[in-house]
Amino acid sequence: MVSRKRQRVSRTTSLEDSKSEPFEKLPDDLVICILSKLCSTSSSPSDFVNALLVCKRFNRLGLNQLVLSKACSSLFAIRAKNWSESAHRFLKLCVNAGSVEAFYFLGMIRFYCLKNRGSGASLMAKAAIKSHAPALYSLAVIQFNGSGGAKSDKDLRAGVALCARAAYLGHIAALRELGHCLKDGYGVKQNVTEGRRLLIQANGRELASVLPSVTLSSVPTKTTNKKLLGQFGSGCCALLSDFGCNVPAPEPEPSNRFLTEWFALRGGEPGPSLRLCSNQGCGRPETRPFEFRRCSVCGTVNYCSRSCQALDWKVGHKLRCSPQVAADPWLNVGPIGAHPHGHMVGAEAGHHNLQAES
Ligand SMILES: [Zn+2]
Ligand SMILES: [Zn+2]
Repeated sequence: MVSRKRQRVSRTTSLEDSKSEPFEKLPDDLVICILSKLCSTSSSPSDFVNALLVCKRFNRLGLNQLVLSKACSSLFAIRAKNWSESAHRFLKLCVNAGSVEAFYFLGMIRFYCLKNRGSGASLMAKAAIKSHAPALYSLAVIQFNGSGGAKSDKDLRAGVALCARAAYLGHIAALRELGHCLKDGYGVKQNVTEGRRLLIQANGRELASVLPSVTLSSVPTKTTNKKLLGQFGSGCCALLSDFGCNVPAPEPEPSNRFLTEWFALRGGEPGPSLRLCSNQGCGRPETRPFEFRRCSVCGTVNYCSRSCQALDWKVGHKLRCSPQVAADPWLNVGPIGAHPHGHMVGAEAGHHNLQAES
């Protein structure tokens, strides 16, 4: 009896041995290589965390600097409700390993959510130095608004320079922002033609990013417009109404989604007399009262940037703004007005551009 039990125990042990054996035989550098690949291609944080839970060895090697330095942006798609000291610690490990995505993600959280402006901005700058387009664009927004400082800290020229670098790397919001700056002569010498060209380019890229099944070699022709319009019907938001087709708004980046969720959990109020950017997928809060530009027509919405304003106008604010404005396009063309606090405002900017770009 005793010997049969012993036999059974030894058979189970040998089965477990044979299960873990393939991993045991792999040399450390090969496991690190496989985990690095996983770290750079994970579609969610759980993909990578599950691999770390396989065994102690995976856990140890998975936290190796070589692995963490390869972290992709999806690895940091942490939900704000799950933010914890251990999530912060994991991000710090990735920062120490030199992950550019971690520089940006933790930079945004520190700057906007934890109000640790200096550390947040310097992390974003580290990502920007490595040509991280979203970091370059976020720093541009900070410069345009003088975020974290006073109104006198606004540096429009620096904002335009950062935006140009991000736009060159193909960042859509940066392209749109730069287009508006050139068109209005904001922080840069006015060049309406070049501004419009960039806005058309931004729209083309927007279309390509939200319609992965449609290949666009260039800006769509009238025939393409009709086809797309027929394909997508009228049920979606009119993001690209400039081109006569209706498609959903683009997916927000993980850091923007985090900011949106973070402030939603706090009642949508970033602080006393502070407001959030009204563009749904942005989530950026004001860092001082009246920092953001507001719609000069209805006065009920505020934007961190021209890019957010133009995008929100297209995806729905034109229908929610003043009813007579939305109904009569001729009322909607005019110069950008001035905010009582001296900020540039104007929902008409969005619509005006629609007309210019179509
Ligand atoms: Zn915004
Ligand atoms: Zn409005």
